[in-house]
Amino acid sequence: RVKERGRGNFGFYQPEMNANLLARMQLEHAMRQALGRNDMQVHFQPQIDTASGAIVAAEALLRWTDDELGPISPATFIPIAEDTGYIITLGAWVLEQSVKEAARWMRGGHSLVVSVNVSALELRQPDFVERIARVLQEAQLPAQLLELELTESMLLQDAEEAAQRLQALAELGIALAIDDFGTGYSSLAYLKNLPIHKLKIDQSFVRGLPDDEGDRAIVSAIIHLGQALKLNVVAEGVETEAQRASLQTLQCSHYQGYLCSAAMAPADFAHWLSGQRPAVLEAD
Ligand code: C2E
Ligand code: MG
Ligand code: MG
Ligand code: MG
Repeated sequence: RVKERGRGNFGFYQPEMNANLLARMQLEHAMRQALGRNDMQVHFQPQIDTASGAIVAAEALLRWTDDELGPISPATFIPIAEDTGYIITLGAWVLEQSVKEAARWMRGGHSLVVSVNVSALELRQPDFVERIARVLQEAQLPAQLLELELTESMLLQDAEEAAQRLQALAELGIALAIDDFGTGYSSLAYLKNLPIHKLKIDQSFVRGLPDDEGDRAIVSAIIHLGQALKLNVVAEGVETEAQRASLQTLQCSHYQGYLCSAAMAPADFAHWLSGQRPAVLEAD
């Protein structure tokens, strides 16, 4: 039935293409209603000190469960939000929720960095820095407790404008992390020119630890690069104790992954946090 409707609307397309386009449009439509229906939530995944097991930060990850469609992965809906511009609305909401939540952790005695994913289109908004400063101010959260995750490709688009904006963020005291490090097409020059504080080793390189020689060489090289440039390094997607032990041997300071925990709903995270030792802030 869906296909027939599609065929009427877009006469010359192939039926499969119709179905895809229609599914995408339906998803976009549902996504635009989701915030108003309370169907979205920001979850938090711990980042852990590899050697001591202490929590050092938490990454904010957006979750969406639609009444009819069920849970929908960010890998599915974030690209649609980016293509349609709706990421501006979503990103602003995620930032606000994350900063408010981090302010609660802080009042509870856990001064924990909250790390928020940022899309290219958001960074390009002329009022991006101003807006972040306002959100921090309203929530009474020190800028030192906010980190933004960017990808390598974002730093190549409008490089000069991006550099200015990152400089302004760093001057506020906000830390900047490179997400999925090693998977983008980019030169490494930006690492010496831009105020970057952290590299997040992509999970595709972590998966093969400890046995895969290629993965081990790449992970080790990224860790050494981070040490030489005085950057924190976090390994993503750590699922096993063998992977964690391997990272400790390679002197990777921090990790994130199901071995510790998946992302948790705010109440679950707060409960989990209350059982942890108070975090010691990372020294930059
Ligand atoms: P990311 O920022 O690289 O986030 C890490 C992803 O790895 C998350 O997937 C997380 O749930 C998953 N993960 C964590 N530990 C493990 C593990 O041990 N094993 C495996 N297999 N996976 C693990 P998620 O939440 O599905 O998000 C996917 C991507 O969607 C994120 O990748 C990020 O690029 C994007 N995303 C999520 N939330 C937001 C948001 O609020 N704003 C923006 N712009 N993008 C977001
Ligand atoms: Mg991330
Ligand atoms: Mg990543
Ligand atoms: Mg990513």
